[in-house]
Amino acid sequence: MLRYHTIPVTGFAQNCSLLWCDQTNEASLIDPGGDLDVLKAEVARRDLKLVALWLTHAHIDHAGGTGQLARELGLPIIGPHEGDQFWIDGLPQQSQMFGFPKAEPFTPTRWLHDGDTVTLGQSTLNVRHCPGHTPGHVVFHSPEIQRCFVGDVLFAGSIGRTDFPGGSHPQLIDSITQRLWPMGDETLFIPGHGPESTFGEERRYNPYVRGT
Ligand SMILES: [Zn+2]
Ligand SMILES: [Zn+2]
Repeated sequence: MLRYHTIPVTGFAQNCSLLWCDQTNEASLIDPGGDLDVLKAEVARRDLKLVALWLTHAHIDHAGGTGQLARELGLPIIGPHEGDQFWIDGLPQQSQMFGFPKAEPFTPTRWLHDGDTVTLGQSTLNVRHCPGHTPGHVVFHSPEIQRCFVGDVLFAGSIGRTDFPGGSHPQLIDSITQRLWPMGDETLFIPGHGPESTFGEERRYNPYVRGT
């Protein structure tokens, strides 16, 4: 069974999720944006074996710690979609602009595409490409535990910003309605910031996507 624990990191309180397969203790981190000591301590405390870093998109609060952690621990970097290449290239500049520790450059080991799967021990998650907030944004869906890790696509009561370079509001709405909603109203999602919610809850009450 897939398990997870979410740890807010960086001054942006970005929800980094530690995922693991409780049969094999193999673990991955989704969006290790920073506070690497905190993340490593949590992995050690739970006696897990970190095998990969997964990225939803390449904004600094999500991806800032990725290069360093991958280098230190010899881990593959999985994702995001190559639409975010320009954001990855800009990470050192983003880190300076937002007062982050200097982000180390990196090249993903594997780009992700809509319909791909990623595995962790005995669990498999489905990848959906959800552009709009950034062009290369992906989400990770586990039908097994009815959870979806959505990064900055959707929040409880809000949606991702689309005023960045490469952002698109219509594209974001399409991503939410065409690619997230089919996962089912009962699916609980873990957003990049703030509390968890369900897709059904957002379809009913989120002012940006209500009734879609
Ligand atoms: Zn973002
Ligand atoms: Zn974010």
